[in-house]
Amino acid sequence: MAKPKVASDWLCGCAGCHMSLLDIDERIVKLVELVDLRATPITDLKHPDAEGVDVGILEGGINNTANEEVAKMMRARSKILVALGDCAVFGGVPAMRNFFTLEESLKRGYVETESTDEEGKIPSSPELAKMTRVRAVHEVVPVDIYIPGCPPDADVIFYALSELAQGRMPDLKTDQIKWN
Ligand code: SF4
Repeated sequence: MAKPKVASDWLCGCAGCHMSLLDIDERIVKLVELVDLRATPITDLKHPDAEGVDVGILEGGINNTANEEVAKMMRARSKILVALGDCAVFGGVPAMRNFFTLEESLKRGYVETESTDEEGKIPSSPELAKMTRVRAVHEVVPVDIYIPGCPPDADVIFYALSELAQGRMPDLKTDQIKWN
């Protein structure tokens, strides 16, 4: 029987959720025996297979039009979509930006930061993605499984992925989730 295909990508986050995935340590060997790991930020393939994957995983909130495209492609190509980590589940740390206007955020990031010299300016190009309010993944595309945590605990990630790999929906209990 073919192994289930799994793909992942990251949006507006810090990569910590993928680092937590790697924190499953030697169990990654078992996971790779169970699944066909396709496009991920840590493999060479960068887009989920056009013919689709069984499980798609997204880390990070949705911060701009490029994130929206990545989320929509992952949703369209995944039978089951997992929101991994607080940023994907409810916006997390990046969503703190929503308390400010886009102009205030850009000015702070590109002009007013203490390490920016007097030539600092807000980048402007039609090729750049347009920033938006930071949103959870489910605000843009339907999500099937939520794994909260910042980052989610490696044991919880391993449990969820190994259940999915064996064709079962993970039954995440509240006491399994470590709210960091
Ligand atoms: Fe980073 Fe935490 Fe967001 Fe994961 S949930 S991307 S660890 S800030």
